[in-house]
Amino acid sequence: MNIKYFSRTLLVLAMIGAFSVNAMAKDKVIKWKLAMSWPKHLTPLSSPPQNFAKMVNEMSNGRLVIAVHGPEKHKAALGVFDMTKLGQYQMAHSGSYYWKGKDINTLFFTSMPLGMTQDEQTAWFYHGGGLELMQKVYAKHKMYSFPGGNTGVQMGGWFRKEIKTVEDLKGLKMRIPGFAGEIMADLGVAVTNLPGGELYTALERGTIDALEWVGPGMDIKMGFHKVAPYYYTGWHEPASEMQFMINKKAFDKLPKDLQAIVTVAMKAAAADMYSENYVASADAWVKMKKDYPNIIVKDFPMPVLRAMKASNDKLIKKLEKRGALTKEIIVSQREFLKKSREWTKISEYSYLKSMIALEN
Ligand code: CA
Repeated sequence: MNIKYFSRTLLVLAMIGAFSVNAMAKDKVIKWKLAMSWPKHLTPLSSPPQNFAKMVNEMSNGRLVIAVHGPEKHKAALGVFDMTKLGQYQMAHSGSYYWKGKDINTLFFTSMPLGMTQDEQTAWFYHGGGLELMQKVYAKHKMYSFPGGNTGVQMGGWFRKEIKTVEDLKGLKMRIPGFAGEIMADLGVAVTNLPGGELYTALERGTIDALEWVGPGMDIKMGFHKVAPYYYTGWHEPASEMQFMINKKAFDKLPKDLQAIVTVAMKAAAADMYSENYVASADAWVKMKKDYPNIIVKDFPMPVLRAMKASNDKLIKKLEKRGALTKEIIVSQREFLKKSREWTKISEYSYLKSMIALEN
């Protein structure tokens, strides 16, 4: 390459560079607001929206700046659906099953009792038609909805007394929200829904006999293990997925590259929450077992699980009649679970079974 050609090339490159810097400077900065249902300190639930906003700012070189507000600021933990729908906020971070009273079809995108594991459900969302069904549901509300971070399997809860038979559930006072609460009510449990701040005292005083929260990582901060020794394993929220909601108009107005940045950052922040919560639970469980050796971990007895399944199937059958889209979602989840569980059995499950047998 001769010198003259080389310097001309450099000059051209410099001009292109100057031009693109110029073009970027002219790009206006877009400012969005995101309302989350959780206070800022409630990690890992509050981690995805905060990590997401930081990533979007960096990846867009400051062209899309997103302010993240918790209920400390917007004052309405469960108002974020409407605030985003109406465009007061461009985005929200919450849980889809909170909106089942507004639209029954939103129920299915968090976790269903006795349903898919985290692996199975994530595969359903991204490669099994779940994401498309979620958009179908939220289009009616002029929003998009995306996975927002998974808690993994949630523990069945803290009980003051052992549950030996289905009879033991009759009259039991328990805090358990959502569809699982409906199943428990069907089995004779007196389901209550106290706010988080009142739960410890209620359990300590025996105002309630049992409650479920999340898993060791989040439960340890609540202190339930100090007053209720039976820690039951999971059945009711095998893979609770949080959600990002986006006002459709606001998203559609973004240039294509910013849309891609938002989409990728949501996925990365969601994946990171699963890992963050996993470590928090592993660490908390080591500490809980050491500090409170009286904790007794129990699986629900098979007759109790069978009764839960029978109630679940009965209630799902009723739900199926609520409309064509409801039925489409239920069938999609059922068929995906059937197929993926066969693979889970000979992969993760068989591996764990063998490895745990080796430990003994
Ligand atoms: Ca829970």
